[in-house]
Amino acid sequence: MPVKAPITQDVMTLPRKLPEGPQNLVGLTRDAMRAALIASGTPEKQAKMRVGQIWQWIYQWGVRDFDAMTNLSKAFRADLAENFVIEVPEVVTKQVSTDGTRKYLVRIAGGHEVEVVYIPEEDRGTLCVSSQVGCTLTCSFCHTGTQKLVRNLTAAEIIGQVMIARDDLGEWPQTGTRTYEARMLSNIVLMGMGEPLYNFENVRDAMKIAMDPEGIQLSRRRITLSTSGVVPEIARTAEEIGCQLAVSFHATTDEVRNMLVPINKRWNIEKLLDALREYPKVSNSERITFEYVMLDGVNDSDADAHRLVKLIEGIPAKINLIPFNEWPGAPYKRSSNNRIRAFSEIVYKAGYASPVRKPRGEDIMAACGQLKSETERARKSKRAIEAEAGVSQG
Ligand code: SAH
Ligand code: SF4
Repeated sequence: MPVKAPITQDVMTLPRKLPEGPQNLVGLTRDAMRAALIASGTPEKQAKMRVGQIWQWIYQWGVRDFDAMTNLSKAFRADLAENFVIEVPEVVTKQVSTDGTRKYLVRIAGGHEVEVVYIPEEDRGTLCVSSQVGCTLTCSFCHTGTQKLVRNLTAAEIIGQVMIARDDLGEWPQTGTRTYEARMLSNIVLMGMGEPLYNFENVRDAMKIAMDPEGIQLSRRRITLSTSGVVPEIARTAEEIGCQLAVSFHATTDEVRNMLVPINKRWNIEKLLDALREYPKVSNSERITFEYVMLDGVNDSDADAHRLVKLIEGIPAKINLIPFNEWPGAPYKRSSNNRIRAFSEIVYKAGYASPVRKPRGEDIMAACGQLKSETERARKSKRAIEAEAGVSQG
């Protein structure tokens, strides 16, 4: 009889760095890259300048090959090639929705997969980036939250998502130029898979790279981080990243929020609001986006709308109403359009912008909260089958 092995000896314990071999330059901060160059033999006096040059090749012009870095000597390029690689995650599949939304399934080290979504709009193009494989939080309306397998993405894997989207959009400026006409990828939202504030350092380092004026050059006003409410990290986000903040609010009483966003049991509405009140001052940003998923009969009454505006009084805010996006087996229904309109009206009359988020890419399961990697689905059902059959997991 085969001995039954534990089913989920999951990847929380995966090493964060690849074991040996050449180091990836992608995802390193300028300081870290400088240190890496010095460690590999670059004279200290030159290191800062070399970082500037390499940085520009990688992040300004999207070059992945040391040999193309023509302002570096041949010998130095050969040294680089020996010690380093320039590596971004691999795109496994790309799906394009009838509305133009693109969804990429991306493979990262260890064979794990995450999803990245590009949403073109008239005046902008937004990339929805993932920060974790799966999510340790278990919001009851979110598909990602049902995924068991979880690991933090590295900074390289996070900024790498931006780089592969730009590859696909053909958006790197021509070598030697730095100008963009209309940007296709003009905004980043950290609203893909995962809780970004449970992977703070990697998210911060990746976003610093996205904002660097000699690279991808996105303004901090064009980057929005969405959190379910990891209160202690909110002040840090203001100080160390300074991007726009969105918060998954979703309920107006602790009782309901505990059920929808269980992290509320750790930091309740009052504690969350206290942290949010400080955010605009510290980050010098305009207003906070309150995300509010519209769930039929759960959080969508007129009384909820009135309570909501009362709670957020004094906080510069915009309320983003998200019609619930269904997924197989989801325990909720989307509120009716009339209900959403009535809710929005109350919030609007109280003086807050209250746009209703248009679901995008629904035909390819790319809408908010629907992301969950196929391999994980496949792996789990295989496990389930094996468990049923009493077969060893090996
Ligand atoms: N973990 C972060 C960011 C990712 S989710 C967070 O929770 O904020 C991005 C937004 O989509 C969040 O507001 C999330 O609550 C919402 N969301 C999740 N599942 C959804 C669904 N099925 N339909 C609509 N919105 C959903
Ligand atoms: Fe995680 Fe955000 Fe989904 Fe909650 S809504 S389970 S925090 S990804």
